[in-house]
Amino acid sequence: MDLSVVIPIYNEEANILSLYERLRGVLDGMLLPGGYEFIFVNDGSRDKSLVLIQHLIVRDTRVRYVDFSRNFGHQIAVTAGLDRATGEAVVIIDADLQDPPELIPQLYQRLHEGYEVVYAKRRSRQGESAAKKFTAKLFYRILASITHISIPVDTGDFRIISEKVVRALRQMPEQNKFIRGQISWIGYRQTYVEYDRAERAGGATGYTYRKMLRLALDGITAFSDVPLKAATISGFVVSGLAFLVMIYTLYARFATDNYEAGWASLMISILFLGGVQLIAVGIIGEYLARLSANVRQRPLYIVSDSNLPEPTSEPSAT
Ligand code: UDP
Ligand code: MG
Repeated sequence: MDLSVVIPIYNEEANILSLYERLRGVLDGMLLPGGYEFIFVNDGSRDKSLVLIQHLIVRDTRVRYVDFSRNFGHQIAVTAGLDRATGEAVVIIDADLQDPPELIPQLYQRLHEGYEVVYAKRRSRQGESAAKKFTAKLFYRILASITHISIPVDTGDFRIISEKVVRALRQMPEQNKFIRGQISWIGYRQTYVEYDRAERAGGATGYTYRKMLRLALDGITAFSDVPLKAATISGFVVSGLAFLVMIYTLYARFATDNYEAGWASLMISILFLGGVQLIAVGIIGEYLARLSANVRQRPLYIVSDSNLPEPTSEPSAT
């Protein structure tokens, strides 16, 4: 098998057919001697997505699918696809046609120039709200500035990776997946191709702000300890300030006569210290929650139905 295409699906009934047609056109045109496969991962869709996928299976034996028992999230859906991919190269692509299938031959060609990862970098993005673009931009910049590994900015999961990278990913058992970070962490020779990100073809985004925030926190906590250290540093800074204020208060009380009982300063320092402490505890809590999720060692996802065998070697769940 030359190429596997992993497609996470959450309520994509409006896009599945046109995605399949466009992908097939592109992949047939690539004349791959070893052939290719589609792996659709249905992440608990509430619409007719699963039915549409099952129609495709009847028409095309290269279509494989995994159906989850509920919505586990985009990153987990991609992981399940990677666990089952048999291709020498694997493309990860969104189902909403925001990632153009026409870019795949270019990604594939670059891969064969001696890279293990070729990611698709967004030159521009269309049809997304200013708020989404701004938060995405901010997130990629913050992440880049506080992690040691270089996670490429303005890049989603649309990319091609070699079998080597897929094998490495299967060895990473973490529960809180941030696949693009994991791929950067893995290393090897990586490069990129630029593209203009289109509007979502049909349907609505499955990424609520809540899911986006979770992804952002997963990315940061999995690849950076800076927030924990920042909590410590701000603790020291605030204590230092409090010490200076204490000296001044003692000085004002015993060495001068214009001492006044200070409600305002008292309230301010109590509120300020309380705030800093709560933030620090919250940051610790974010890490602790992820730690406990990993200690529980639950499987990453539950499969309801599939036309593929369960992966036997190096499954992703610990
Ligand atoms: N998706 C998923 N599970 C989810 C949310 C999204 O599998 O809980 C899939 C979705 O079907 C699509 C991809 O992940 O193929 C990207 O999602 P979406 O286009 O909604 O995100 P956006 O482009 O708005 O960031
Ligand atoms: Mg999208």
